[in-house]
Amino acid sequence: MTTTLPAYDEVVARYEPVIGLETHVELGTNTKMFCGCPTDFGGEPNTRVCPVCLGLPGSLPVANKAAIEAIIRIGLALNCSIAEWCRFARKNYFYPDMPKNFQISQYDEPICVDGYLDVEVNGETVRIGIERVHLEEDTGKTLHVGGATGRIHGATESLVDYNRAGIPLVEIVTKPIPGTAALAPEVARAYVTELRDVIRTLGVSDVRMEEGSLRCDVNTSLNLPGQEWGTRTETKNVNSLRSVERAVRSEMLRQASVLDAGGRITQETRHFHEESGDTTSGRSKETATDYRYFPEPDLVPIAPDAAWVAELKAALPELPRVHRRRLQEQWGLSDLDMQSVLNAGAVELIEATVAAGTTPAAARKWWLGELSRRANESGVELADIGATPAQVAELQGLVDAGKLNDKMARTVLEGVVDGEGSPTEIMTSRGLEVVSDTGALTVAVDEAIAANPGIADKIRSGKVAAAGALVGAVMKATRGQADAATVRELILARLSG
Ligand SMILES: [Zn+2]
Repeated sequence: MTTTLPAYDEVVARYEPVIGLETHVELGTNTKMFCGCPTDFGGEPNTRVCPVCLGLPGSLPVANKAAIEAIIRIGLALNCSIAEWCRFARKNYFYPDMPKNFQISQYDEPICVDGYLDVEVNGETVRIGIERVHLEEDTGKTLHVGGATGRIHGATESLVDYNRAGIPLVEIVTKPIPGTAALAPEVARAYVTELRDVIRTLGVSDVRMEEGSLRCDVNTSLNLPGQEWGTRTETKNVNSLRSVERAVRSEMLRQASVLDAGGRITQETRHFHEESGDTTSGRSKETATDYRYFPEPDLVPIAPDAAWVAELKAALPELPRVHRRRLQEQWGLSDLDMQSVLNAGAVELIEATVAAGTTPAAARKWWLGELSRRANESGVELADIGATPAQVAELQGLVDAGKLNDKMARTVLEGVVDGEGSPTEIMTSRGLEVVSDTGALTVAVDEAIAANPGIADKIRSGKVAAAGALVGAVMKATRGQADAATVRELILARLSG
């Protein structure tokens, strides 16, 4: 499209966005949802299959209790009501990666309903309503070969791998989220981040977006103030937290340009493209009636015992929000400082660095400073930057031991991020170590004093602040490998009395 998009500020001044998120989480159970096939990732194609997950005639599904326990725990953590009785439903559609030609899912009787998740955005708490959390089975994977970039167009063959078919999948659907105005993209990202952290804390999934165990569809619509909500689109293929934010923003801009031109928004799915950050039209959205849902006749209803649910609730771990408050207190941070830690996605990283023996202040300095800057520059999540908490702790240990000064530590950290090895190895291989040999430094100090007699006189007459210029000269002479504090002490000792 060649249309020039309007500026974001203008869009949010004229329109009100309503967003909604549908998130799929692959559960980390040992076996599949309705059969005993293993769920481990990476097996040869079609080696984790049996008559049930291949949909062979006469095979019968049996629900996985561990998956039901996991979804109830997710529902409880999201403040949902847990149904006393509910059923699975057949969602009918023909697709090659769905061998039964229907998916066992839940329709009008989901197991968890009507909850919420509180998220922090810019220091404000936004309560996101949860409409439902239900259980279903994953599909297989289709691979198109012989064409460009794995697309079906131009492919000579399509292959199907059913290893993933039947892996338990939890779908979490929010209620529509109005009223976020310009913050809509950030709210969407904050929600998915918080949801990921909650689920990870529960230990029921590894929730890795890049590996597809957490997948997110983003609904976006715009309306004029005081008017009805607009037609929404559903953006698929959103594979990172950053993309969640970008997808909402890009869809808001696109919809505004359509509406500004007097056009109408089509209800459809759209695909998000990582490289360009924009969305393109997918298929027009099916409505529920297209799927001809009906109760699954091969499975008994789920009727979780109230005492069991109460037991699961009592055994929930400390959830991220509570955990963060406790850390904020331990680290002695203001709300604002804690917010920047959160925005940077650095809570767990700092926590792990502190656990490896670094002070909270030093850990925060590295993760929010140098490493955040590098992550922003290369457009990756901080956690994927290439430095581990253990390495950052090791680096700070070298600084604390006086072996590296701040500038050198930053150079070493660059090497860590570039995969050159551990901080100690890089310090050695790059020949970086603080010159603390006072003999060698004294020579450099004397040279600096001799070369700057005017400054030396000032210091002699008590103007200690002038020492900075001499420290700079010595640092330059030692190519930054001296400890500035030691140099300063030596200069002042030389020129006093
Ligand atoms: Zn199976």
